[in-house]
Amino acid sequence: MEHRVELLAVGTELLLGNILNTNARDLSQLLSGLGLNVYHHTVVGDNPARLAQAVEIAKGRADILITTGGLGPTCDDLTKKVVAGAFGLPLEFHPECEQSIRDYFAKSGRTMTANNLQQAYLPKGCTVLENRWGTAPGCAFCVDGVHVVMLPGPPRECLPMFREEVTPYLAQLTQGVIHSRTLRIFGLGESGVEQLLRDKMNALTNPTLAPYAKEGEVELRITAKAESVEKAKEMITPVEQEVRDILGDQVYGADVTSLEEVVVPMLAKQGLTLGTAESCTGGLIAKRVTDVPGASAVLQGGVVSYTNAVKHNVLGVSQEVLDSQGAVCAEVARQMAQGARKVLGCDLAVSTTGVAGPDSDDRGNPVGLVYVALATPDGCEAVELHLGGAAQRRDRVRTLAANHALDLVRRYCISHGK
Ligand code: ATP
Ligand code: MG
Repeated sequence: MEHRVELLAVGTELLLGNILNTNARDLSQLLSGLGLNVYHHTVVGDNPARLAQAVEIAKGRADILITTGGLGPTCDDLTKKVVAGAFGLPLEFHPECEQSIRDYFAKSGRTMTANNLQQAYLPKGCTVLENRWGTAPGCAFCVDGVHVVMLPGPPRECLPMFREEVTPYLAQLTQGVIHSRTLRIFGLGESGVEQLLRDKMNALTNPTLAPYAKEGEVELRITAKAESVEKAKEMITPVEQEVRDILGDQVYGADVTSLEEVVVPMLAKQGLTLGTAESCTGGLIAKRVTDVPGASAVLQGGVVSYTNAVKHNVLGVSQEVLDSQGAVCAEVARQMAQGARKVLGCDLAVSTTGVAGPDSDDRGNPVGLVYVALATPDGCEAVELHLGGAAQRRDRVRTLAANHALDLVRRYCISHGK
């Protein structure tokens, strides 16, 4: 039987925009990993009438209802009373819950106020979900074929409770899992990827293949539904291979989050060191490389050469070229990279110089014109990039410039490793 799950988050703070409904995101991911389809996310404030109305709607369209929030001791915590009421269940006192709540306070050295005992009232006949991460216990019951699970709002309580106590309960209701593998692509836009893979995407139903546009790159997700993770992985592997055959080294990694996560180990494996000379990216490349554990084996250092004086004095960029062509040109990018390679004593050095915006520079170079160069033992190449466009954001131009620089390093490693 196909189950239909609805997530109901309770809390006025969510509606006011004071906090983000991260529970919906995180629980949805966990549920899809269990092979359960989430069909609706609902958010309702701390208001009994509107909460009751939301539960009525959910009852009509879902057979698994998971609520988060409003289980605490304060008067706005009304989820249990209203949800249990909607299923015709009264609340009853659970002495064992009282004991856990008292123990929790004793352990954390705090005094328990009387209103905390409200948390020991739970729907009659329910399964109690123990909360070892906070005070408010959760609960689960099934009435008229609808499974109801109530969890506390704070993610640090809600998520471990879900993993440890709700997962075994729900696993009995379902067969199969949903598993994905995400390929990251650089150098092709979403429409470019779609164009190359359209027929394949349309033909596939399990696994499915879907592209998602990210900042300056594309994610391609292969998702399989199967009786086990192992089986799903087996189904994903040939599809991944076909995609790699078509896209080649534009696929830079699988189940990774960034170019630097791939570049750092590639450099380490080949025993190559890296340095940076950054103008418009202001140190972003070095920052991103140092985000990756193990960067110290690879990154020699970086120069943020923002002014022409630093470009000339520290990196040895020719004053004549700076005067005649300005700082934003291929020759300056090349000299920056070669200078950094020498000054920092590294095998490879990347550089960036360009116009991040919001205005064009004093020579009239447009926003988004960026030169990126890579100096290696074999020579130095510069690439001209046009990352502009209407209302291009400054941070976006910088992110894209850093991506291109890291991709130059990646491509060098690929050819060097052959
Ligand atoms: P408590 O015992 O802490 O009061 P509770 O179950 O009553 O727990 P709420 O009062 O609704 O939960 O929320 C407590 C806190 O948990 C919120 O201030 C918020 O920081 C966090 N929280 C609640 N709901 C969510 C949600 N859907 N997503 C992310 N965080 C949430
Ligand atoms: Mg609360």
